[in-house]
Amino acid sequence: MSEPILKVEHIQAKYGDFIAVHDASLDVPDKSIVSLIGANGAGKSTLMDTIAGAHTPTAGKVFYKGEDITGVPAHELIKRGLALVPQGSRCFVRMSVEDNLRMGSYPKAARAKRADNFERVYNLFPVLKEKRKDASGSLSGGQRQMVAIGRAMMSNPDLVLFDEISLGLAPTIIKDIYATIRQLNAEGLSVVLVEQDIHRSVKTSTYTHVMLKGRVALSGLSKELTEAEIKNAYFGI
Ligand code: ATP
Repeated sequence: MSEPILKVEHIQAKYGDFIAVHDASLDVPDKSIVSLIGANGAGKSTLMDTIAGAHTPTAGKVFYKGEDITGVPAHELIKRGLALVPQGSRCFVRMSVEDNLRMGSYPKAARAKRADNFERVYNLFPVLKEKRKDASGSLSGGQRQMVAIGRAMMSNPDLVLFDEISLGLAPTIIKDIYATIRQLNAEGLSVVLVEQDIHRSVKTSTYTHVMLKGRVALSGLSKELTEAEIKNAYFGI
């Protein structure tokens, strides 16, 4: 097994006094796809935000490429190749598709590769090239999701955390977006897929972690976990 690109050790994260993540540990082997599944409110987004430097943990450690990055802010982590595609395909709606994408390439190393990365994103999502001058607010939900993914790819990442990217999208679009993620992974990208949909994420990933009420309740090789085991951990039965 390859060396993990990400190691999360006993993370606790709070909102005020409320503990959203009690104790979460997981590894992401380099160049793998790891899925994190769990019901509404299980703490998945809080854990992703904590890893990506958008939320400060109250306990635990996060290691990325062997370095302790606990509490390092998001803009610093993007420079090191760790990007988050947050839930809700957030774009700057008044800005053009191209300007939204360009914003992803602000780290110095990524700026140098901007032209190549634009081409890469437009190859992945040709519709974005057609609409590059259009305001992002005029796009469909699926296309906005492509912009959000494209913006992360413009930063030249080594690891991307995708937080429920299929939320609210039509099944055919979800299929295309998943195919794109598999392609990016085949090109060497390490991926964390956060999902509520058990089947899709388990099928796509090598490792699965199930979160329940702020804890990682089950971890294992996706192909070895049984449906009953996953459902028990997911629903807490
Ligand atoms: P979902 O699938 O609905 O996004 P999730 O597994 O990602 O759920 P989180 O969004 O991390 O779960 O939420 C974990 C817990 O933290 C929930 O009980 C939620 O209500 C609470 N929570 C999330 N964000 C905040 C916030 N900004 N302030 C207070 N509580 C919050």
